[in-house]
Amino acid sequence: MSLIPVLPLFLELNRQYFQNSLLERGVPRVSVRWSDGRMRTTAGLYKRKTNFFGGKAGEIILSRPVLENLPEKALKSTLCHEMIHAWIDLDLKVEEVHGPNFMKRMAEINSSQTDFQVTVRHSFPVSKKTPKWLATCPSCKRSFRYRRIVKGAACRSCCNNFFGGQWDKKCLLIYKPFSEVN
Ligand SMILES: [Zn+2]
Ligand SMILES: [Zn+2]
Repeated sequence: MSLIPVLPLFLELNRQYFQNSLLERGVPRVSVRWSDGRMRTTAGLYKRKTNFFGGKAGEIILSRPVLENLPEKALKSTLCHEMIHAWIDLDLKVEEVHGPNFMKRMAEINSSQTDFQVTVRHSFPVSKKTPKWLATCPSCKRSFRYRRIVKGAACRSCCNNFFGGQWDKKCLLIYKPFSEVN
């Protein structure tokens, strides 16, 4: 999975499972964004913040490193989980983590469709091994994670876009230890 815009998904889930309660006069009461590369132990989180007008607002952060390689249902499940936290905080206005309100709404959502399942976990059983190398294309500056150095590897999209699909040393990936760049 590549990174997709999350606002449309938020709006869809809000309409389907939260009776649009996370919108106020058409404006989301929660901002949703992808994390940078450092958020690797949890798939998503919800936090409360004060908005521009001093009112209560929320923020959902989705982990790019955890979710980007998982199927889209993992993203839906994570986003929905965090939206239940937002709904409890902003709409019910109660202090609760994974309490009775959470469990009830989770069960309702899970029983109403078969596309994805919300759980109380905030993480996924993904490999904890971090890649050792980050390879960057000198041409388009995109980065790729590698467990080992692949000698002579070039950026496929740049070779395709600029060199007619032929390998060219101008697209040779430059490796840096992952720990140094993340
Ligand atoms: Zn939670
Ligand atoms: Zn490139």
